[in-house]
Amino acid sequence: MERVPFNLPYVTGRECDRIREAIANRQLSGNGPFTAMCQAWLQRRVACASAFLVQSCTAALEMASLLADVGAGDEIIMPSFTFVSTANAFVARGATPVFVDIRPDTLNLDEQQIEQAFTPRTKAIVPVHYAGVACEMDAILALADRRGAMVIEDAAQGLLASYKTRPLGSLGHLGAVSFHETKNVSSGEGGALLVNDPRLSARAEIVWQKGTNRSQFARGEVDKYTWVDVGSSFLPSEITAAFLSAQMEQADEIGQSRLEVWARYHQAFADLEAERRLRRPVVPHECTHNAHLYYVLLPTRRARDAALERLNARGINAIFHYVPLHSSPAGRRYGRTAGALPVTDDVSGRLLRLPLWAKMPGEAVARVIAAIREVLSKGI
Ligand SMILES: *Cc1c(COP(=O)(O)O)cnc(C)c1O
Repeated sequence: MERVPFNLPYVTGRECDRIREAIANRQLSGNGPFTAMCQAWLQRRVACASAFLVQSCTAALEMASLLADVGAGDEIIMPSFTFVSTANAFVARGATPVFVDIRPDTLNLDEQQIEQAFTPRTKAIVPVHYAGVACEMDAILALADRRGAMVIEDAAQGLLASYKTRPLGSLGHLGAVSFHETKNVSSGEGGALLVNDPRLSARAEIVWQKGTNRSQFARGEVDKYTWVDVGSSFLPSEITAAFLSAQMEQADEIGQSRLEVWARYHQAFADLEAERRLRRPVVPHECTHNAHLYYVLLPTRRARDAALERLNARGINAIFHYVPLHSSPAGRRYGRTAGALPVTDDVSGRLLRLPLWAKMPGEAVARVIAAIREVLSKGI
C-alpha cells in the first residue's frame, strides 16, 4: 500500500502564473511588487504596524535579535520545547537562552514560571505558539511590561490563529512567522518579521536592507544611499514572493481544509481519550487555532516509541518532536534552565505527530485513524 507521508506541500495551481508575472516585471531581486503585495496582505490579516518578508522564520528571529540589540551576556526567556531557531537567533548574538517549562495542557511556555527566570540581564521573552495555539499572552505581556522586557513572538506555526480575537504575531513588540514547506502557507523556504511597536519600523527597514537606507532613498526621503546601521541580506527574491502571493490568495481555503482534517482526527480519538489510552490536544476557549498540526500524547515514552515504529511499519509516516533544547548538545553549551523542566521532559517523550496537510484525502485520514486504533488496541 502507498505510504501516507507526514506532509505534502499544498500547491494552489496559481504559483507558476505569478512567477511568470514576476519575470515579466523585470525585477527579480527583493522588495518589488510581489513583496509589497505579500507584506500588505500580512499587515491586513495580522494587523501589524509593518511587515518584512524574509527568507525564513529563522531569519525573522535573527532580525528581531538585531532590532532588540541583543548582545553578549543578555538572557532570553523561552521554552525548551521548541525548534532550534528560537534559541539560535539569540545565541548567534552572544545571548544565553533561559529555558522555562511548558504548561501540560497547551504545551506552551508556562506563564506562571516566567518571573522566577528573570535576572537583571533578561532582555526578552520569546513565547512560541505551539501548534498554532496561543500562549497565555495577557499574562506574558503584563509581566514583560512590568519588568521592562521585550516580547518577541515565535509565531512560526501561528499564521491566522488568534488569542482573544487578536491575530498571533500581532501581540508582542515583534513577531516572526514561517512559510517553510511544512507550514500552512508556504513558499518552500520563507518567513516574515512583523513589527507591532511602530518605534521599531524605521530601523527594521534598514536592518532588512543590509544596514542601508536604500528604501528611504528609493522613496526620495534621503539624497544619498549609504550604510547607516547593522543589517544583513534578509530579502527573498520576487520569485519567492510571487509563489507566496498565490498561496496567500488561498490562505483561507488552505486553513479550512486543514481544520477539517484536524477535526476528523479529534473526533475519532475522543473515545480513546475517554479510555485514557491517549490524550488529545487542548485548545483553550480564548484561542482560535489554525490546525497547524495534530498530535496525541501516549501514556509512556515506550508506548510512543512502539506506536511510532508500528505506524511507520504500516506505511504511516508519523513523527516525534522536539528533542528538548536544554538536553541537546548545543542547548547545554549555550543555554541554561530556570528550574526543573518536568513537563517538557515528559511530554517530548510521549508526543506523536500525525500526518496532516491541506486537501489530505479522506481515505488517507481514515487509514491513519484505523492504524492508531489498531496499534493501541494491541496494547503497547
Ligand atoms: C518552523 C519553525 C521555525 C523555523 O522556521 P523556518 O522558516 O524554517 O526558519 C521556528 N520556530 C518554530 C516554532 C517553528 O515551528
